[in-house]
This record gives sequence, structure tokens and C-alpha cells, in this order.
Amino acid sequence: MPKNPALQPDLKRMGCGGCGGRIFTVFTADATARIIVQCQGCNSTSYIEPAPSSLRIEWGEGDGCLAVG
Ligand SMILES: [Zn+2]
Repeated sequence: MPKNPALQPDLKRMGCGGCGGRIFTVFTADATARIIVQCQGCNSTSYIEPAPSSLRIEWGEGDGCLAVG
């Protein structure tokens, strides 16, 4: 990762959706579970956390696909 991520063309800069601020303080009690970012302009907070995953069953080869019953 380069020291200046803005040099990577596929990255978009993020900011506060309220005041447009771009300076945040980052908090966490467990970085694997939840990170909280607080805008230093308006004190709004955002949570960054893993979304629950779900299983998806897709057709493979043959006529039968796994089903309940
Ligand atoms: Zn803000």
C-alpha cells in the first residue's frame, strides 16, 4: 500500500455525509468486531462492522440440487 492512497486511481475519498468533514477519530473495543469513526466536524458517528453472512445453495452438475425435505 503506497503512503499516499489518493494516488491509487480506484480509491474514492470518503467524508462525513452530514457536514462534509474529512477528519475523524477512530475508536474500537475489538477491532475484529466493530470500529466507530467520529467526525470531528459535527461529532456524528459511523459504525464499521462485519455484516452477517448467509449460505447460498446453487445448482451444480446434474439434475438434482440440494433441497429441504
Ligand atoms: Zn460531520
